[in-house]
Amino acid sequence: MKTIGLIGGMSWESSLEYYRIINEGVKKRLGGFHSAECLMYSVDFAEIEVLQHRGEWEKLAWILSQAAVRLEAGGADFLVLCTNTMHKVAPAIEAAVNIPLLHIADPTAERIKARGLRKIGLLGTRFTMEEDFYLGRLEKKHGLHVLVPEPSDREMVHHVIYYELCDGRLQEESRKKFAAVIEKLATAGAQGVILGCTEIGLLVKEGDSVLPLFDTTIIHAEAAVDFALK
Ligand code: GLU
Repeated sequence: MKTIGLIGGMSWESSLEYYRIINEGVKKRLGGFHSAECLMYSVDFAEIEVLQHRGEWEKLAWILSQAAVRLEAGGADFLVLCTNTMHKVAPAIEAAVNIPLLHIADPTAERIKARGLRKIGLLGTRFTMEEDFYLGRLEKKHGLHVLVPEPSDREMVHHVIYYELCDGRLQEESRKKFAAVIEKLATAGAQGVILGCTEIGLLVKEGDSVLPLFDTTIIHAEAAVDFALK
């Protein structure tokens, strides 16, 4: 089994999910008392969040690259960055180490294509919904057609992610608002929706959505198990 190097803490609520899903996955595949060989470097999200909203991506790239270097030195065979948004600095992380980074968008796109879907809604932070590092990868590398919510809905989703979900609060009112945004995406032609933020799956479940959900936390963690056991 390969050793998984997790870059977590963004937020720790979602990193907990990664840890659980990865260990459950290894146990399911290997049975008995088996569990995952893994390391996690968990950052202080307060520092990360301030730098994100100030647009200080070079500093963020440096912080996460240092985490990656430490994980590699600790024996990790590959890296899993437990957040969609911070994949904005994935190229800098990859350049800092000699081990591969399992990009969150790739197994997500593969899962969507395996279901025969092409037109897909995307929910995430403003950075994820609006910038090329994520959308561009889904469209150019994987040939998906991505639909994002209208600007006021993007603002609401972004706000709920930072001020509720990353703060450990799940509110019924926000669940309903997300369900309504998903309905609008369905009306616009989406065949499914990517939960492109690792905390959204804590709030929105299959029963809340008119569309099939592609939860990046689950998909990414399961892909890490596949890679570790390959
Ligand atoms: N976990 C979130 C994501 O998947 C947002 C927190 C962050 O900015 O890293 O994008």
